Amino acid sequence: MTRNIQALIEQMTLEEKASLCSGLDFWHMKGVERLGIPSLMVTDGPHGLRKQDQSGDHLGLLDSVPATCFPSAAGLASSWDRELVTKLGVALGETCQAEDVSILLGPGVNIKRSPLNGRNFEYFSEDPYLSTEMATSYIQAVQSQGVGTSMKHYAVNNQEHRRMSVDAIVDERTLREIYLASFEGAVKNGQPWTVMSSYNRVNGTYASENEYLLTGILQKEWGHEGFVVSDWGAVDERVPALDAGLALEMPANNGLSDKKIVDAVNNGKLSLEKLNQTVEQLLTIIFKCVDNKKENATYDRAAQHQLARQVASESMVLLKNEASLLPLQKNQKVALIGSFAIQPRYQGGGSSHIKPTQVDIPLDEITKLSRDNGQVSYAQGYEINADQGDQELIGEAKNVAYDADVAVVFVGLPDRYESEGYDRTHLQLPANQTELIHTIAAVQRNVVIVLMNGSAVEMPWIHEVGAVVEAYLGGQAVGGAIADVLYGIVNPSGKLAETFPLQLSDTPAYMFFPGESDRVEYREGIFVGYRYYDTKNMKPLFPFGHGLSYTTFSYSDLKIDRTHIHDTETVDVHVTVENTGNRAGKEVIQLYVKDNESLVARPNKELKSFAKLELQPGEKKTVTFTLDKHSFAYYNVELKDWHVETGDFSILIGRSSADIVLQDTLHVTSTVAIKKTYTRNTPMVDLMQDTSKAHIVQGFMEQVKSMMPVSSEEAGEASDMMAAVMKFMPLRALVSFSSGAFTDQMLEGLLAQLNQD
Ligand code: BGC
Repeated sequence: MTRNIQALIEQMTLEEKASLCSGLDFWHMKGVERLGIPSLMVTDGPHGLRKQDQSGDHLGLLDSVPATCFPSAAGLASSWDRELVTKLGVALGETCQAEDVSILLGPGVNIKRSPLNGRNFEYFSEDPYLSTEMATSYIQAVQSQGVGTSMKHYAVNNQEHRRMSVDAIVDERTLREIYLASFEGAVKNGQPWTVMSSYNRVNGTYASENEYLLTGILQKEWGHEGFVVSDWGAVDERVPALDAGLALEMPANNGLSDKKIVDAVNNGKLSLEKLNQTVEQLLTIIFKCVDNKKENATYDRAAQHQLARQVASESMVLLKNEASLLPLQKNQKVALIGSFAIQPRYQGGGSSHIKPTQVDIPLDEITKLSRDNGQVSYAQGYEINADQGDQELIGEAKNVAYDADVAVVFVGLPDRYESEGYDRTHLQLPANQTELIHTIAAVQRNVVIVLMNGSAVEMPWIHEVGAVVEAYLGGQAVGGAIADVLYGIVNPSGKLAETFPLQLSDTPAYMFFPGESDRVEYREGIFVGYRYYDTKNMKPLFPFGHGLSYTTFSYSDLKIDRTHIHDTETVDVHVTVENTGNRAGKEVIQLYVKDNESLVARPNKELKSFAKLELQPGEKKTVTFTLDKHSFAYYNVELKDWHVETGDFSILIGRSSADIVLQDTLHVTSTVAIKKTYTRNTPMVDLMQDTSKAHIVQGFMEQVKSMMPVSSEEAGEASDMMAAVMKFMPLRALVSFSSGAFTDQMLEGLLAQLNQD
């Protein structure tokens, strides 16, 4: 329906306009009844619906209506499956329509800077490309159902510690390449109807008042067409926030902020034009929601539960599987050990906390799949709410494990270890769980570990166990999904979306996280996640992109369509993958790009594309990736733009970031010349590296050589040394060191020639 929003704005009073800029209560926007502007509901997100009634809280403590709890983002991203995320997004959209919710508060696309962040379970990855792809599919799918999303938390919200006051100090290149990149990609490709500004400050200014982020980058540079909503309680000063580009403040504060806005317009501190623009942004989305509202919508709970099971099983990552310990055989005597087998940890704490429609218990589901009930025994092993080992529980578990063919031990992080609102302080499992694993491994050679956690953990016991399945926080159907994976009904195909380090002190931000007082400096720069381990040539416990299968895949026939391209062109890359095992499976084919030589610091390689293929035994498929400028570029802070350096790039195809199986080279030529200004103080090396000035440099170098005291043939090694030292001398040094042969006038002439065009 076409509407005249401008005409509507003209009819609104100043007070009505200001009133639209803050919530009616905890979960509703205000409407203006006399003008037919409705009050809409917005609600959490991201991996299910948390719809509360009258009362509200932003930490998920109060009750909400039952809804399907899907796996949280950490698990979801491990699927590396755009289609699966799309299915999930459609289901979420349908639920919102049925529950009369107009905007779902998700997805969370912040980058995992440190595994200590208590909220990592709600974020996709340490890699901006994977995060972009997951976010885009999610946003497009939810919005295809006529429901808005709220991509959050914009920006640089990478820790919970002091989250409402901390100032994240990040350099421009790191900001663009790492922390803004997944917001950028998802805005450009997915156009979320709203973006949620974060609690923290970024380089000195609160994100919610940050004009550079909200208007300069998000709106003007990336072309965001929706509006910005504050995180709940993230607004410090309302009027500067509005001026900076923050349209909606949540939750309600009983009109206090509205009055400030009215006063600011009346006393000239805020322009009416700015307020009108803000109201226009709000009304555009409000009516988009209205026009897409589906009356009498319903959703199928049972079908959603099945989908939750599928998403969970296809997100799980088989980290280790020695001697094909998994899948389990139906006639094996299985000892299930650990409280999480009957009280699974399937979601994280905080605002994303959902009241599930049902929960599958791993013990029940595994028992159903084993040949008969007698084959599965259970022992609790530890108390979830304690850290210290209970010797009675451990002893009982030891006996059960000893009597079985295989022990499947469920361990993970309890809620008190990780949640919205606080960070972890170490990467260990609770001591009672670690003790249990050591004890079981001493009496049983076949030990399978199932992990339930929101982010990486250390595994000092890794060499004592045969198999490890990372189940993350797998949602309400996690029990069935684990049973499917353990018994091979589903062949695992998840790959890590984050690195698992050997120990906390190996992590890139270790020395700078969570900062000092209210200031956290991102001193590791762009070297986040595998970009760090890989560049340092450091072995993690499990690398980014790692994940095993019950079948095997072979890779062949890497073909790049061209050998040279310009940065304005695209190029296709093909690779063939074959299932060489004897069961059907899915493989994630990862494409990384390495800049072989660069004048700026670059990671050893970066993920630039991926695809997930399903292959029957013996089946072969060829996948095609299309690369463009973004696949080769870094963010150049002088140009204030993405830039490709002319040169050779390696195209790497891997099973993981650490397991590259095929590679080839492509030459990319930049179409953007960076204009350099030469001065007396420019080091010679800059001149030598400037290929565009080669014609001048050649003549000049001849001249320099002839001024050297001895000829190069005579000088031998001394001449090499001199050349090496001279490289870093400023041009003016020639005047000082050439005994008068190179004059100031000659230098000026050279500079004039160099700076000519
Ligand atoms: C969280 C947001 C959430 C909001 C509303 C905040 O505490 O940071 O992610 O959407 O509460 O519950």
